[in-house]
Amino acid sequence: MSEQNTASVDVDCVDIVIVGGGIVGLCFANALIDADFSVVVIERSELKINVAELRDEKFSDARPDCRVSAINRSALKHLIRVGVIDSPRSKKALAERICVFEKMFVWDQTGAGQIQFDSAELGVSELGAIIENNILQQLLLDNIAPAKNITYLCPEEIAGIDYRQAEPASVTLSSGKKIQAKLLVGADGVNSKVGNVASIARTKHPYQQLGVVCNVSTCESHQATAWQCFMPSGPLAFLPLFNGQCSIVWSLDEAAAKQMMALDDAAFKIALAEASDYKLGEILEVSQRFSFPLSHGHAVEYVRPGLALIGDAAHNIHPLAGQGANLGIADAFALAEIIIAAKQANRQWCALHTLAKYQRQRKGANQLMEVSMTAFKELFGQDNPFLSEIRNAGLSLVDHLPALKYKIIQQALGVID
Ligand SMILES: Cc1cc2nc3c(=O)[nH]c(=O)nc-3n(C[C@H](O)[C@H](O)[C@H](O)COP(=O)(O)OP(=O)(O)OC[C@H]3O[C@@H](n4cnc5c(N)ncnc54)[C@H](O)[C@@H]3O)c2cc1C
Repeated sequence: MSEQNTASVDVDCVDIVIVGGGIVGLCFANALIDADFSVVVIERSELKINVAELRDEKFSDARPDCRVSAINRSALKHLIRVGVIDSPRSKKALAERICVFEKMFVWDQTGAGQIQFDSAELGVSELGAIIENNILQQLLLDNIAPAKNITYLCPEEIAGIDYRQAEPASVTLSSGKKIQAKLLVGADGVNSKVGNVASIARTKHPYQQLGVVCNVSTCESHQATAWQCFMPSGPLAFLPLFNGQCSIVWSLDEAAAKQMMALDDAAFKIALAEASDYKLGEILEVSQRFSFPLSHGHAVEYVRPGLALIGDAAHNIHPLAGQGANLGIADAFALAEIIIAAKQANRQWCALHTLAKYQRQRKGANQLMEVSMTAFKELFGQDNPFLSEIRNAGLSLVDHLPALKYKIIQQALGVID
């Protein structure tokens, strides 16, 4: 069991309990380093990476994990500000596994429509960075390790939560430990227990699709570019990795995804190369494949007195533009900023009127992204020749209008702040 700093914090009665130490929960903890709050993070699963190996020089040669995230510039800026990394091209040992991408190339497989975003053309040094989820989590954990106000309990499961709006929440852990907190933060993913105990309703819309993910070696170099192909069957992304490989996310209807999962490696390599129009040539090597059900959903409220939901606990979207973690990171830093400012001004930092500011700041932006991703999926998911014409003309037109391109990348992808 990993338990950091328990000697310095009264774990029976603290200011903030964060349920869930995924990327978003750990970002929230990082945003609270050295703030005037005692914080406990509860996470049930240990990271499946060998920390000793991580410090080993040879680690940079180890095969990348299949779950990766495209982290945008504004999220990177937060991570740099709190010291998780020192720059997008960080020299920290683990950060050697971060792959900065400078271009994004999007095309419609049913026609000639295409659009390219180039960091040089947009006047920025990079569009974002691809990071393995477990490496980002380890970097976030390393950064909170010395913080005297933060305790990380893992593996620890929630056995029960007693939440009454007027009193501090009481959390019972499977180990029997009880913790009282003035603010209970649900960073516990799509099936949030914290959201459930607060009876917060949530919309749920399965796409009836699975995301097939794996890492591949390709004949051509990835050119520090994120590649995205839209097909009526679903989008396919090739995200560049630090070791020259690409991480793929291929969204397919359930039956088609199951077929792809069942193919042997040789047949899968051919199917993948064909689906990607051989943009990166033949597929030379392929790792083990995993699949995830895809859905979108939104909590009707993010906050209650003494309670807040962040990240996937508050909203989840289609991974087609790789924005889920970025939205969650933005939630985490927005909530931290609001409660820190309230505490510093001697205001009621965990009262509903303070937390409501967080909901006002984030819910609209998150809903807009959810609606945009669903609209994109619908527009490109149609096999209709008329729509295909419009899509292709639209993509190519935007590609020739720099001001509009800039606006899209700024607003839809959060690349420029
Ligand atoms: C195929 C795919 C590709 C994606 N690619 C991208 C991308 O490129 N870029 C991007 O920004 N987003 C991407 N996303 C979305 C992104 O992965 C999620 O939005 C993000 O991981 C959500 O983080 P989170 O910390 O909110 O939730 P989670 O990652 O779900 O973390 C929740 C944590 O809470 C813990 N937990 C839950 N319940 C309890 C409990 N009762 N007690 C203790 N601990 C608990 C869990 O163990 C977990 O660690 C992708 C998603 C998918 C499916």
